[in-house]
Amino acid sequence: TGRIAGKVALVTGGASGLGEAIVRRFVEEGAKVLIADIDAAAGAALAGELGDAADFAKLDVTQEQNWIDAFARLDVTHGQVGILVNCAGITTIGSVEDVTLDAFRHELDVDLAGVFLGCKHVVPLMKRTGGSVINIASMASIRASDYLVAYNAAKAGVTHMTKSIALHYAHKGYGMRCNSVHPGVIRTPILDKVLAQSDDPDALFAQWVKGHPIGRLGRADEVASLCLYLASDESAFATGAEFVLDGGSSL
Ligand code: NAD
Repeated sequence: TGRIAGKVALVTGGASGLGEAIVRRFVEEGAKVLIADIDAAAGAALAGELGDAADFAKLDVTQEQNWIDAFARLDVTHGQVGILVNCAGITTIGSVEDVTLDAFRHELDVDLAGVFLGCKHVVPLMKRTGGSVINIASMASIRASDYLVAYNAAKAGVTHMTKSIALHYAHKGYGMRCNSVHPGVIRTPILDKVLAQSDDPDALFAQWVKGHPIGRLGRADEVASLCLYLASDESAFATGAEFVLDGGSSL
């Protein structure tokens, strides 16, 4: 039983933060989930805790062969993949002057090309049975931050790529949908990594809270609830859409 009972999902970045919350919610609602992450220790521990409903695959989203292997494994064990959540991501801090070309390319490789590869390799499976692709972008692709030039570029790319994929496969009538999710600042381990790179972490944290008219940061379980809706057939009419969940931050 559950809102996505019997569906099979792959969640990248599923070992931590938003991805972990999504994995837990999907399992609660009856899905089988493959947690795909570069962090093997955390991913395997979470899969172990969740028992038969979850499995772990070490996957670097930038490595095409990792994607081919993960989907081949799911296809053999389950014969269908109905849900892909592209949640793995990094956040490179810096203005256009600060960020090196190597760092810029790495950010685009993980946060944009990684999503491209996931979509590319899930399409042959979803063409058979339909499915829902959920790309975790950010409010950063709607409202730019002055200190996140590379991240802004990558996430804006994800948003428009999502629409292109949605349009192509809606036209073809495969029942495959693709939407983007735009969280405001959510309390997860990534925040600590961003704060650690800041000259004035306390001021940055206060700026984040102030930037959300609702008066607080978001919670990972709130993002997981939205992803559950998008993964389920309740959202069957939604494709190519930007789902903003940011406490009013982008207004
Ligand atoms: P997090 O650091 O807690 O989790 C990110 C996960 O991605 C980690 O488990 C990490 O091991 C994994 N990962 C990193 N690089 C990878 C790679 N190359 N291949 C596979 N896995 C990789 O961060 P989070 O806050 O949970 O962020 C998840 C997603 O949500 C990211 O795409 C992020 O940009 C987005 N997001 C986060 C916030 C926020 O405020 N936390 C806001 C908007 C968007």
